[in-house]
Amino acid sequence: MRELVFLSPGKLEWRDVAEPELQQAGDAIVRPVAATTCDLDRLIVRGEAPFAGPFAIGHECVAEVVEVGEGVTRFRRGDLVVVNWHISCAHCDHCTGGRPNACRSHPPGAMYGLPGLGDWGGTFSDLLRVVQADFALTPVPEGVDPALVASAADNLPFGWEFTVPHLEQSPGADVLVMGGCGSIALYAVMFASAAGASRVQYHDTDRSRLVIAESFGAHAVEGPPPRRAGEFPIIIDASADQAALLCALRSVAPEGIVSSVGGHFGDVALPLFEMYRRGVRFYTGRGRGGPNVAAALAWVADGRVNPAPVISCIAPFDEAPSVVAEASLKPVLIRPRTMKTPPAR
Ligand SMILES: [Zn+2]
Ligand SMILES: [Zn+2]
Repeated sequence: MRELVFLSPGKLEWRDVAEPELQQAGDAIVRPVAATTCDLDRLIVRGEAPFAGPFAIGHECVAEVVEVGEGVTRFRRGDLVVVNWHISCAHCDHCTGGRPNACRSHPPGAMYGLPGLGDWGGTFSDLLRVVQADFALTPVPEGVDPALVASAADNLPFGWEFTVPHLEQSPGADVLVMGGCGSIALYAVMFASAAGASRVQYHDTDRSRLVIAESFGAHAVEGPPPRRAGEFPIIIDASADQAALLCALRSVAPEGIVSSVGGHFGDVALPLFEMYRRGVRFYTGRGRGGPNVAAALAWVADGRVNPAPVISCIAPFDEAPSVVAEASLKPVLIRPRTMKTPPAR
């Protein structure tokens, strides 16, 4: 079967590899039908992240279930599913505690589509083995276009994670989003607006992303990050830019929350005394993934949000090498389903 391999910045190719097989009773084999790039993949393809090829790239997809092990009870052949980006055992204290992104039973960080974290393959491939499928898969709601939610494993629920739960704690709070890295910032704007933020302020230097943020209801500010952007109880740094991260940390309201998606690969000197005096809750990490997928999908399914403006292009799956190499905002590679939807249970 084919697997998309990242070779070096701007260079990707299909490679022939052995088809994955069921190895444990809880496994499933799935066939991606809509796959897209994570913001981290964009940085990798542009040569702006410290990951050297060759390796199978991609960890965001919607897939159809091709085969399930005898221990899988929630899914059947033909089901349309979102595949968690992280590999999880479903049983350790992190998996049962809502942190399956930090599963203890696999090598730290185990996931699809990055080097050195296990040989799991990537989502731009003909087939993918899913470990603990009942835990790792989420059904795509009836009637939702797979292309629209190709990002529902990672970046889309990441945008939800940074906004909706915080706005439930602080209804109507103002939200600051430092953009620059890609889609997560825009998803955060989308969810924050829909979740009732009084004001969503979005900073970026890229005109096309500013326009998308405005379409989601943000007050868009064009240009390099200022030293301080105001005072906000909820802030998201999805900039991959040190100056923007520092702006985020200086713009937080007393005891507010700053969440950073990363993309900062070196050391950063933080204004810790300023942060201490004000009180800051700072999160940086890969996001919890699986536990937020169904919630993010529900917002799309009932129309509270529409992530379509973030999609930069929809192209045939076969064209993945050239389309992914372009590193556009959110390219979605699609192909028709080959299996009939199973009859309702
Ligand atoms: Zn990712
Ligand atoms: Zn686990």
